[in-house]
Amino acid sequence: MRSVQNQGNGAIKKKMNGYVGFSNFPNQEHRRSIKRGFNFTLMVVGESGLGKSTLINTLFESKVYPTKDTDASEVPAVRSGVEITSVSADIQENGVRLRLSVVDTPGFGDSINNDEAWRPILENIESRFDAYLAQENRVNRSKIVDNRVNAVLYFIRPSGHGLRAIDIEFMKHLHTRVNLIPVIARSDTLAGREVETFKARIMADINYHGIQIFKPVSDQFDDPETVADNKAIASKVPFAVVGSEKLVERADGTKVRGRRYPWGVIEVENEAHNDFVSLRQMLLRTHMEELRDATDVGLYEAYRTQKLLALGHVQDNAVFREFNPRQQLEEEERLHGAKMGKLEAEMAAVFRQKVQEKEGKLKQSEEELHSRHQQMKAVLEKQRMELEDKRARVGNNQPPNTSMDAAAAAVLAHAGEPVQRM
Ligand code: GDP
Repeated sequence: MRSVQNQGNGAIKKKMNGYVGFSNFPNQEHRRSIKRGFNFTLMVVGESGLGKSTLINTLFESKVYPTKDTDASEVPAVRSGVEITSVSADIQENGVRLRLSVVDTPGFGDSINNDEAWRPILENIESRFDAYLAQENRVNRSKIVDNRVNAVLYFIRPSGHGLRAIDIEFMKHLHTRVNLIPVIARSDTLAGREVETFKARIMADINYHGIQIFKPVSDQFDDPETVADNKAIASKVPFAVVGSEKLVERADGTKVRGRRYPWGVIEVENEAHNDFVSLRQMLLRTHMEELRDATDVGLYEAYRTQKLLALGHVQDNAVFREFNPRQQLEEEERLHGAKMGKLEAEMAAVFRQKVQEKEGKLKQSEEELHSRHQQMKAVLEKQRMELEDKRARVGNNQPPNTSMDAAAAAVLAHAGEPVQRM
């Protein structure tokens, strides 16, 4: 950890270093992320004392959150409502910059009446969508700040009995707005066989209530290794997790992150002991980008559409173009292209018309010249005949009129010249 800053609005800003695992992205995304860095916003929801802060600190191997050293049996203090607080951490790993925001929801489930506990959280998630939508519709969209929540880790109390009303209400109200990742908190407090039956009960409740949760899918991949990995992770949902910020000594003397019991050690990173490794794998190493995509393309788009419909717009392309900047730009380009095409066609028509007019004029003056030439030729021919006649007469009786002959010769010579065309 490098520095901690309180931003004064309940949000704490921290800078940290340390290996977490999010650098394992596809190369292209990796390169883009190296250049620009990327945001990931994770929300944690669950009543106090379920180990939320501990798990976050364990996941990121950093003291993102202060933890309270409370006893498991301690009853959390009753609160009057849900608060939303946020901690941001800049994490650099192998040259990749991650701006991680962890949003906590203290007070959830800690009131006497928790019927509406989901509401402030839903409102917070939707207000982040609204903020993004407002930025998308701005003229200058070069600096969009993305604070949309990419996933919610929902902590289920390790009761062993199935979901409680508060869990079902929360998931039913939130599942269309956020990627839900249910986790069984403090799973080391349940016996091994209990965990499996508890998981089955939770999944039965989730399916019964038609709740969508985030799970890795396998059918989109050809690569057998990825298919197997995704299947293995999906089979662990809901993840039964154990968190610990402390290192404990095993029987063989080695130190591991875990929790000590009189009968032995529960290791956080041992897959035989709990699902922490699978959760970390999915969240930070293999599915972070998918969670971001699902937020952007699935959940946010659906919210945006609903929001516009609620504003009284008919889902018709013309209306949506108005609100979709990309579509609007494409439409503007199409209209501009059509306008230019029309202009070009008009110019070509005008040009053709001008050429036709010029050709017409040329033809007309050619005809005029031709007829003038014919007239002149006829006049000259007549004059020539008269001159011939005169000469014949002069030859017989009188001396020839030489000045007249010269004039007639000049006229005759001129008559033989070609017509000058315009
Ligand atoms: P939060 O209120 O949900 O943030 O809970 P904390 O992370 O502050 O943890 C509350 C108490 O539970 C602390 O004493 C932790 O040491 C303990 N705790 C956290 N995670 C686990 C766990 O996985 N198993 C057990 N047995 N205790 C845990």
